[in-house]
Amino acid sequence: MIISEKVNVLYGKDVVKDNRDLIRSLGDRFLIVCGKSSAKLSGALDDFLSAIEGKEYLIYDRISENPKVSSVLEAGSMLEDVDCVVGIGGGSALDAAKVVACLKYNDAKTEEELYQQKWENKALPLILIGTTAGTGSEITKVSVLSKNSGRKSSIHNERFYATYAFCDPEYTYSMPLKVAVSTAVDALTHCNESYFSNKATDVSRNDALEGIRYLLPGLKSYNGSFDEQYRDDIYLGSLYGGLAIDVTGTTFAHNVGYYLTENYHLPHGFACAVFQEDLIDFETENYPEYAKRFFEQIGMDQKEYKGLINSLLPEYDIVIEEDTLKEILPRWEDNGSVKNTYGKMTVNDIESILRKKFVR
Ligand code: NAP
Ligand code: FE
Repeated sequence: MIISEKVNVLYGKDVVKDNRDLIRSLGDRFLIVCGKSSAKLSGALDDFLSAIEGKEYLIYDRISENPKVSSVLEAGSMLEDVDCVVGIGGGSALDAAKVVACLKYNDAKTEEELYQQKWENKALPLILIGTTAGTGSEITKVSVLSKNSGRKSSIHNERFYATYAFCDPEYTYSMPLKVAVSTAVDALTHCNESYFSNKATDVSRNDALEGIRYLLPGLKSYNGSFDEQYRDDIYLGSLYGGLAIDVTGTTFAHNVGYYLTENYHLPHGFACAVFQEDLIDFETENYPEYAKRFFEQIGMDQKEYKGLINSLLPEYDIVIEEDTLKEILPRWEDNGSVKNTYGKMTVNDIESILRKKFVR
């Protein structure tokens, strides 16, 4: 059972099939926003289409990983006569759908206009149906989009909350293994980063720890595949991670992770996981009491925990040249995610981390 104060979360097997009347009450013409294959492979699209049988619908299925602003604008141009937007997929499709639902009454025709929007007018009713167990996007007010330049940039707005999130863990079973691992690791990074955020509260810390408790048995069981009995718990853990980051946001690890995704095509979860050891080292060195409390509560020590996360990462070979490092560092000079890292982190810390890991 998962409860959000902001989103009506329906969790469990067959939640879409079992809530046909509720879904049908949200409109007569639906715009479904999804990627090429996951909506179909997961079974979620079929279940949704049977629920709205006899009603009209349009499908925009061109949302890619790290969804582009241009695709969101394209989907937004299909909104005429639409009265409910439905995102089906992983974080990419859900993040895109959140913004599409807002475009009906908040105009934006260009990337610049979209990032300048204040989203003061209401959004269309929004249904989110998750198919990965990672981002927690079902629950958050966050949308992460890629600009024309390739730069990932998040928007946080209360208007992005779903009206209903349908979370059926069975839709996640069709994920390819690499996606399953990367997304599960993403969920763990959300819990870690939320705990080690300057905005953490007692409630968000509890959600972060609860998320870790759900995630750890499955992650520890990983030996080339996850033990199937843990898949539902991994999904639940990812939703707790969503609750936690919705309060706190993420830290430097996510933002510097975006750089690795943009330039080295590391999937989002892996890219952020690369920096978890650095987050843990920073906190343990500078705020040992706070870090000690964290490790006591998750029941693992620092070395063991870092080892577990690193064991889930694929091999990657990234070298950053000295000149490139100089060019990219200003990106983190006045960066909200760096400032949000528990304690006082500055761009000098980012420089040391990147230097130690990637500059040879
Ligand atoms: P994703 O990019 O949505 O999906 C990754 C790949 O897995 C896609 O090829 C997708 O196919 C496929 N896939 C997804 N579910 C599947 C299923 N059940 N069966 C088969 N294939 C499936 O992955 P994600 O990790 O969930 O989302 C990452 C994005 O979310 C990033 O852009 C990240 O920055 C963002 N994010 C958002 C938040 C937030 O709070 N809003 C938090 C963290 C991360 P299709 O292309 O066919 O869909
Ligand atoms: Fe993430």
